Amino acid sequence: MSQPTKLVLIGPPGVGKGTQAMLLETRLHAVPLSSGAIFRSEIEQGTELGLLAKDYIEKGQLVPDDVTIAMMSRRLRQDDVSQNGFILDGFPRTVKQAESLDTILLELGFPIDAVVQLIVEDEVVVERLAGRLTCPKCGATFHLKNCPPKVEGICDRCGTELMMRADDHPDAIRRRLVEFREKTAPVVGYYASRGILRPVDADRSPEEVYSEIVRGIRV
Ligand code: ADP
Ligand code: ZN
Repeated sequence: MSQPTKLVLIGPPGVGKGTQAMLLETRLHAVPLSSGAIFRSEIEQGTELGLLAKDYIEKGQLVPDDVTIAMMSRRLRQDDVSQNGFILDGFPRTVKQAESLDTILLELGFPIDAVVQLIVEDEVVVERLAGRLTCPKCGATFHLKNCPPKVEGICDRCGTELMMRADDHPDAIRRRLVEFREKTAPVVGYYASRGILRPVDADRSPEEVYSEIVRGIRV
């Protein structure tokens, strides 16, 4: 049997990381790990971690590193991850998080195979996020104009009622873009210097982006 794949998806909010993680999961059978989705589930369950993260997220700010790293470290240590590999989406978002991820993976004995950098212009991101509809249950995303669900307001995949995320309003979107430029863009350099970065133009249809990712990581 082939080795489980360990991928990181990196790129600005709204670039399509979640969509690609879902498409890649079908092919690779690796575990999709979205830090944003884990936070949102903690918020919904009203846990202590959720309460802590909520204010940051709704303002479009990053949750502090120590909180995020502890949460992702716990998740990465679960058995399904070592058995099937992972597709990380939304983590690491700072150089400190990238360094911690390296330490965790060194300990676990499975290094990252590739880091896929999804690239689009800011205007595209704002347009995509401002009309985005998200499924709170399965994480699928739709768009009011560009990609409406078959039945208005209902998830095509699982039939759950779609919602707009609390951080998909203009102020938070702008803040998330600033956070990306200041804190996450340096993570791209961190991986480029290691030769595992695969840049992909993400201003195309999800299927085209997906094909280029698959070509670039050779899986
Ligand atoms: P997007 O990529 O569309 O911005 P995510 O669902 O990945 O959305 O993340 C939503 C929010 O969750 C972020 O704006 C941030 O507040 C918080 N978050 C997610 N991942 C991290 C992380 N690795 N470090 C700090 N905060 C995070
Ligand atoms: Zn759904």
